[in-house]
Amino acid sequence: MSLYPKSKILFEQSKAIMPGGVSSPVRAFGSVGGTPPFISHAKGAYLWDVDDNKYIDYVGTWGPAILGHAHPKVVAALIQAINNGTSFGAPTELELKLALMIKNVLPSMEMLRFVNSGTEATMSAIRLARGFTKRNKILKFEGCYHGHADSLLVKAGSGSLTFGEPTSAGIISSTVSETLVCTFNDTKGFTQIMKTFGKEIAAVIIEPIAGNMGCVLPANGFLQTIRDETKKYGALLIFDEVMTGFRVCFGGAQIKFNIQPDITCLGKIIGGGLPVGAYGGKSEIMEHISPTGDVYQAGTLSGNPLAMTAGITTIEILSQPNFYEQLETLSTLLTNKISNALTSHNIPNTINQCASMWSVFFTDEKVFDFNSAKKINSELFKNYFHFLLNNGVYIAPSPFESSFVSKSHSKEDIEKTVTIIENWAKSIML
Ligand SMILES: *Cc1c(COP(=O)(O)O)cnc(C)c1O
Repeated sequence: MSLYPKSKILFEQSKAIMPGGVSSPVRAFGSVGGTPPFISHAKGAYLWDVDDNKYIDYVGTWGPAILGHAHPKVVAALIQAINNGTSFGAPTELELKLALMIKNVLPSMEMLRFVNSGTEATMSAIRLARGFTKRNKILKFEGCYHGHADSLLVKAGSGSLTFGEPTSAGIISSTVSETLVCTFNDTKGFTQIMKTFGKEIAAVIIEPIAGNMGCVLPANGFLQTIRDETKKYGALLIFDEVMTGFRVCFGGAQIKFNIQPDITCLGKIIGGGLPVGAYGGKSEIMEHISPTGDVYQAGTLSGNPLAMTAGITTIEILSQPNFYEQLETLSTLLTNKISNALTSHNIPNTINQCASMWSVFFTDEKVFDFNSAKKINSELFKNYFHFLLNNGVYIAPSPFESSFVSKSHSKEDIEKTVTIIENWAKSIML
């Protein structure tokens, strides 16, 4: 008997009217198969689907839900904001307040602009970098995801080491030819590319802690080399902290590693679960944005009062003493227990973790770039994924994603999760 009869019907109906039945591709369960549960509501660390299955949620709406879902303070602030009107298309004090809160924690963002998604933030940051430097080329790292703007949907080409190939149809070759691709954590390779192309590069964009090939940490000195080399050749350094911003500490990877990028992109957590993005950096660069400068970028709903309110309330809660310490302790408890459970049943595993962001890779080898991430046993992952889902643990339906612990997860949630993973490990005959 299926656990998901209602979801199945809704999925069939949705597929007839929306490509894949979803508003964003990974939600369709393409890499794991089966029916995605249709979620009816969420509270704290839990999700419920339309068939009344309850899940402990480690996706956290792909990162934003660091407080858990429907936090009472965020909900109360939002209700008040809704009653004041949902959008004015005019400046508000809320934008000023959130901008100041962010700058206070991330001083490299001397000025910033709000947009509606992480994609808009990176796309606009690239345009700004090109407008500011009057250069065309950009450099990205294999396995880093920066949203779906044309120039960033590029992977390493099979023939040439440096020039990319589009990862989507509909992206023209002239766009891709301006995007160079380098291997994450390959300091030598990066330095070599800079030697050849450094003076033509407008910006180097990177997830300072990668989260979109699973969680992959930068090797010692890697980010510093990127900072030094970009400075040397006059290229801007863009930190895409859409995922890591306010996730890895109060601030972001740039605070954790003490490296100042020229431009930072944010999203996810700073919108407290509402659609948001932001990009910002040195004033002399940001003043090139319209209306003060000649780089055009705009948005009807940008800086809208609901997203600003949810963001302000969320960051206020995050600023409480020991918030991140407690969250990290809980996360480490979970990852240690998962590692023990898997290892004691001879299941090859590597767990990468930074604060409350982590990934289980089904491989014995270290995972430090996209190629090593791809060595995972994906059949094993599929099996793991469905066992967890059927037993009430919700993780991302792809082996190349990060998982997140939220402030709402309890020790009991952790214990329950580990027991389920243990049961899975027992059920597997390797
Ligand atoms: C999620 C994400 C994006 C894209 O943000 P959207 O709001 O989905 O457009 C960009 N960069 C990183 C690092 C992300 O994790």
